[in-house]
Amino acid sequence: MGNVISSNLGYPRLGEKREWKHALEDYWSHKISQEEFVKRTKEVRLSNLKKQQELGIELIPVGDFSYYDHVLDTSFMFGVIPKRFQAKNEAHDQLDTYFSIARGTKQAIASEMTKWFNTNYHYIVPELEDFAPHLVENRPLKYYLEAKEELGIEGKPVLVGPITFLKLAKTYKEDEPESETSTCSCGHAHVLETAKCDARILQDLVDKFLPLYKQVLRELEDSGVEYVQLDEPILVTEYDQAELAVIKSTYQELQEAAPKLKIILQTYFESLTHYQEIVALPVAGIGLDFVHDFGENLAALSQYGFPKDKILAAGVIDGRNVWRSNLHAQQKLVKSIVEYAPEVELILQPSNSLLHVPVTKKNEPQLDSILLNGLSFADEKLNEIVLLTQSVQHTAPTNSLLDESKRAVDQLNQSEHRNHPEVQKELRDLKNLKNERHSIYNKRIQKQHKNLALPLLPTTTIGSFPQTQIVRQTRASWKKQEISNHEYEEFIQREIKRWIQIQEELELDVLVHGEFERTDMVEYFGQKLSGFVPTLYGWVQSYGSRAVRPPLVYGDVSFVEPITVKETVYAQSLTEKPVKGMLTAPITIINWSFVRDDIPKADVANQIGLALRKEVNHLEKAGIHIIQVDEPALREGLPLKKKRWAKYLKDAVYSFKLTTTGVKDETQIHTHMCYAEFEDIMETIRDLDADVISIETSRSQGEIIASFEEFHYDKEIGLGVYDIHSPRVPEVSEIKQNIKRALKVIPENQFWINPDCGLKTRKEEETIAALRKMVQATKEIRQEY
Ligand code: GLN
Ligand code: ZN
Repeated sequence: MGNVISSNLGYPRLGEKREWKHALEDYWSHKISQEEFVKRTKEVRLSNLKKQQELGIELIPVGDFSYYDHVLDTSFMFGVIPKRFQAKNEAHDQLDTYFSIARGTKQAIASEMTKWFNTNYHYIVPELEDFAPHLVENRPLKYYLEAKEELGIEGKPVLVGPITFLKLAKTYKEDEPESETSTCSCGHAHVLETAKCDARILQDLVDKFLPLYKQVLRELEDSGVEYVQLDEPILVTEYDQAELAVIKSTYQELQEAAPKLKIILQTYFESLTHYQEIVALPVAGIGLDFVHDFGENLAALSQYGFPKDKILAAGVIDGRNVWRSNLHAQQKLVKSIVEYAPEVELILQPSNSLLHVPVTKKNEPQLDSILLNGLSFADEKLNEIVLLTQSVQHTAPTNSLLDESKRAVDQLNQSEHRNHPEVQKELRDLKNLKNERHSIYNKRIQKQHKNLALPLLPTTTIGSFPQTQIVRQTRASWKKQEISNHEYEEFIQREIKRWIQIQEELELDVLVHGEFERTDMVEYFGQKLSGFVPTLYGWVQSYGSRAVRPPLVYGDVSFVEPITVKETVYAQSLTEKPVKGMLTAPITIINWSFVRDDIPKADVANQIGLALRKEVNHLEKAGIHIIQVDEPALREGLPLKKKRWAKYLKDAVYSFKLTTTGVKDETQIHTHMCYAEFEDIMETIRDLDADVISIETSRSQGEIIASFEEFHYDKEIGLGVYDIHSPRVPEVSEIKQNIKRALKVIPENQFWINPDCGLKTRKEEETIAALRKMVQATKEIRQEY
């Protein structure tokens, strides 16, 4: 066996107690000077490095730290600054320009942001306009030197590789309208268009950027750097032979530019596509993910082997989830890798950057001890890497520690949390469940029409109303126990009542209670179902300074008591009009949580589906005739390789139907999805068999309408008639135009009128004004029928 060293791919930026976030926000709100900001963030950065050093990681990443986002860092170091942010005068501050690209200014809209592969991290999409990129600063070198000087660390500079950087960028033309980055009520950014990149465009872009990458690498080599990590997760997605040729020549040139530098071409999130060709590239090393590869990297390794003279950087500890590893099992994995690649230099590391997990579990003493013992956040994962490295090198006695890890995992798996007899029985019994509505759509919709007696083109909203400062403050005081449960409930009821009155006054047809009791559409359900637990400091970066704290789905999920019934029934008691119940569907809950990995995700989804089915039944029994089950994160959770889509979508549909098929024909099931791109999942939308679906539309009207021309959709549908991402109040005429366009392809008796998404992030005045216009537009159109 060759040499084995421990390494890391990236460390969380946030700091144990979100010190990084606070420094950013203090700087943005002018509470601290730039000098102070630089000082505070440097402290976080150095302490992150020191921690990795103390944990015993041999190859520590440098330059992965960011003031906002690593893709933006890459753009910025190459001078890729959209024109609208380019300083008119020299005095303009660099750091402020950097932040303005990410956050926008009064005069200029921020660059778009979108999800980093299938994670919940958002990067800033590079805008490649007419430009002459140049090397503004050798950022990796700067951080390499800092780590060396301050801490004596011989770090491994990390940067986004050229292929990933350029394929994620969008090429932007002067005459195209500027795109807008915005956040909807799910708290996630939505993209308008993603860059499509064929080989020719890719080659053109590579021609512009390759000289800069080469310069960076050459300077690193000259400064004595040994290893450098070029992140190329795009190489696990699909690309053709023509693009492969571009990739080959690019890497050939890169390594030639700095022949002594050990370039590691790092992939992660799934298995490498075109394994044979990529591992043969003339670079010093290849990084592969052996955790999220569905066994495919190992299979390819065993089938095709690995070049003898190359470094294999093997991701062997899960960098995307929070569970402790059974190190005996991982040791076995390492042994198989060594068996197939016997003489190579081996680097052991997490499967991807630890950016996607919280910093440390040591601040979570409140958790049940069996659960706590079965967790592993970033620091603990690095410890696992070190142990594993020692165990294969036999440099330290590790057996008892390996045993301990196995015991911890076994204990959690065998605990009652994960062995709930009723839940397990219900899961087993699923084979006897039809999981379909009683009657087919045509039959049940008639009963629903008769019961609900709604007008033509019924109007409604997506669920949430503005979460004003007072709503958030009151919830915070309640959490701090400054106000009692009773006072808090009364407050929520007052808000519900106020908004029922507003909706009645607006003459909307189907009302909602407004979701004032929810901070977040996933966290809220996590708090009410068993099998979930929140953490205190389990923060992960979502975008910029924004962090989320995904709940842990650690055990069997079961229904405890009604979750939404009280608020919904209260709202219904105030009006003659139907009030729509509002739930979050299983896949969205899963995609925004840390989910146990001892059983298939589909089983977890079904457990959640079964629990929510009970909630749906309670709502129905309590006299709620319309129930909406939101599945906004369905699309973003799609696997990176298309061949896996069918199973993912089938499982998603099944768990959605578990939630929704237990009702009478008369009960109307709605669902909502908020993304503009959905051609890929049209069939899935049909399969969900919801009576009514609402979809975000207004920012890509043309495309969506066109999809419906080809795709005959026979159920009811609301294509959002105005954009909720902007504070602008639309004109009646615009809304009418949107409705009419949709009515060209969708029969009027199937069409619903609603905004694009929830109204949680909007102001009250603008919400009311916009809804008023929406109802007015609807009334005018109804007259034409
Ligand atoms: N019912 C949710 C709301 O209105 C839906 C949010 C979403 O689709 N992301 O906020
Ligand atoms: Zn939405």
